[in-house]
Amino acid sequence: MKHKQLLAVALLAPALHVCAQQGKPEETEVWTPVPAVVTPGSTAANAPSDAIVLFDGKDLSKWESEKGGAVPWTVADGAMTVSPRKGGIKTKDSFEDFQLHIEFRTPSVVKGEGQGRGNSGIFLQSFYELQVLDNYNNKTYSNGQAGSLYKQSIPLVNACRKPGEWQSYDVIWTAPRFNADGSLKSPARATVLHNGVLVQNNTELLGKTLYIGKPFYEKHGAMPLTLQDHGDLVSYRNIWIRKL
Ligand code: MG
Repeated sequence: MKHKQLLAVALLAPALHVCAQQGKPEETEVWTPVPAVVTPGSTAANAPSDAIVLFDGKDLSKWESEKGGAVPWTVADGAMTVSPRKGGIKTKDSFEDFQLHIEFRTPSVVKGEGQGRGNSGIFLQSFYELQVLDNYNNKTYSNGQAGSLYKQSIPLVNACRKPGEWQSYDVIWTAPRFNADGSLKSPARATVLHNGVLVQNNTELLGKTLYIGKPFYEKHGAMPLTLQDHGDLVSYRNIWIRKL
């Protein structure tokens, strides 16, 4: 193409683009609903104004033992810590779709290996485990490492901080839906950021977390959030949730 022809094409292209747009810009403006005003936290970790603060570093009133009754874990220095072999804990409230922020710390004194090092877990809707594990220079099966949806989905990367350092998960959870006859209507989905790094991208879950065997779904509604006692001194702090 000669220089003049090239120039003509370049000049014509934007004009053609404008011609394709007919009507008024107002016709495609949507004014309602108006999104609710939410005041963000002062940092990404702090609870926004419409969040339910599940744990502020002191108050365990939103939690109970997995078996019912008082929380058997210890609270000190703005964190709660697993009391090994006294059982997991769960929220008194139940949740369906949500955004969750939670911070955890695996022990600074490193002992054990594989699944035996800084193991705990966040059971989304009580049944679906987002693994908590010290995988800083600690190898285990990929679909059971930190950031995995346990035995279902390998994290995209290993974003672990060193043992003894605080870490975060931010989770967007879409609950599974069921038909009246109990069959699955739509599976659960999870997006997870580990220390701000994407590790699960709208991952579809295959069913409830199982240690042995293939996962499958069983009908349920809103469920509590559960934190696992796996026998290690894992701590948690700054837990908040937004119902979606
Ligand atoms: Mg675990």
